[in-house]
Amino acid sequence: MSDDIPFDRSFDLPPGKVEEIHPGVRRVLCNNPGPFTFKGTVSYIVGRGRVAVIDPGPLDDAHIKALLDAVRGETITHILVTHTHRDHSPAAARIKAATGAPTFGEGPHRAARELHLDEAPRLDASGDRDFRPDTSLADGDVVAGDGWTLEAVATPGHTANHMAFALKDSEILFSGDHVMAWSTPVVAPPDGAMSDYMASLEKLLHRPEAIYLPGHGGAVRDAQRFVESYIRHRRGREQSILSSLVEGEADIPALVQRIYIGLDPRLTRAAGLSVFAHLEDLVERGLVVTDGSPSLDSTYRLRG
Ligand SMILES: [Zn+2]
Repeated sequence: MSDDIPFDRSFDLPPGKVEEIHPGVRRVLCNNPGPFTFKGTVSYIVGRGRVAVIDPGPLDDAHIKALLDAVRGETITHILVTHTHRDHSPAAARIKAATGAPTFGEGPHRAARELHLDEAPRLDASGDRDFRPDTSLADGDVVAGDGWTLEAVATPGHTANHMAFALKDSEILFSGDHVMAWSTPVVAPPDGAMSDYMASLEKLLHRPEAIYLPGHGGAVRDAQRFVESYIRHRRGREQSILSSLVEGEADIPALVQRIYIGLDPRLTRAAGLSVFAHLEDLVERGLVVTDGSPSLDSTYRLRG
């Protein structure tokens, strides 16, 4: 399904090592590899002397120490968070405690829509409910430090509060989990919403940045073309779901089995959530119907 996206999985930065990947931009990898985090979370340090940290990462002592060591003799003046998943934001509190730097982000963790009855306990494992930014950012807000300026680019979809950050006077966008070179992100209701996600992809097509630095893995080059392939990929998956439903009504496990051939078993649940996200969007758009609110257990059919 995904060979239409020019993925780049080359990324061999050892955890804890500080690497300057662009003048004034350093990155440090946390040692939290996994099926959703790739090699681990990548934290960024922007500027020299008085710096910003983007996505301090999970509560991982070694990583927090590596970040603080990386800026020894310098001052962290800003802590920015792309979104409130546990692999991105929890260390913000510890970095703040160590440095006094204020935190910036769109807002606390929240679902993209109201929860249906009994839905929350199953789907709520990855959110960081403790993070509350000292300063809430809206789309277009600018955070300026010593020699660097970041523009907040609201990019909901992976989470409702996802923000990317454009580095002024450069080609760089810190893209968080919205766009990554190694994989597509999970878009799973109720944290995420497919309609928001697609709109946020379209939004990036109209921006000038050519290089994305994501929260996992290496840089996205030729970003516009890459985002176009992301959009095509999701539209293709939507088409597969619709084609599958032409054969008759189906539930989510049946659709996953039909659509994802050779799927890593660890990703079955995520695939189900992704199909759910598409179905929720298709129901909203009136192309697919189900009884009651769309849920993981519902049966779906084409609108007759
Ligand atoms: Zn995430």
